[in-house]
Amino acid sequence: METILKKNCITCGSQVKGRSDKKFCDDYCRNEFHNRRAGRQDEVVRNVNAILKQNRKILEELAEAKKTIRVAELAMAGYRFGYCTELKRTVRGATHFYCYEYGYSPLNSEKVKILKSAKNAEKSSKSTQKIDFRA
Ligand SMILES: [Zn+2]
Repeated sequence: METILKKNCITCGSQVKGRSDKKFCDDYCRNEFHNRRAGRQDEVVRNVNAILKQNRKILEELAEAKKTIRVAELAMAGYRFGYCTELKRTVRGATHFYCYEYGYSPLNSEKVKILKSAKNAEKSSKSTQKIDFRA
């Protein structure tokens, strides 16, 4: 015999009748719940993508005029340091922070060197080693 519990629909809050593992009153509410959740996930992805795109654009524009730039200037231009697409460690132990094909490498606490990787950013060169975060 199945237990019948009084539960409320996650979407609309009305009482759910039926099996104890039911979470929604009907198919409409179940679909609505999953659509909303998917929408929120899309929004998170869109927001991060927008930041990465902006970072890339900033580096691209700066790379045309300069080879090095002050960290403060990068920040003033709107660069978000927490966001990058790839980290590479050079054999000398320096870290390169990439946003797609553009990146920077800290020279000291105040300045960074702007980098542009070869066309195929996926192929790591011999002098760098990809950092694997899965380990
Ligand atoms: Zn409902």
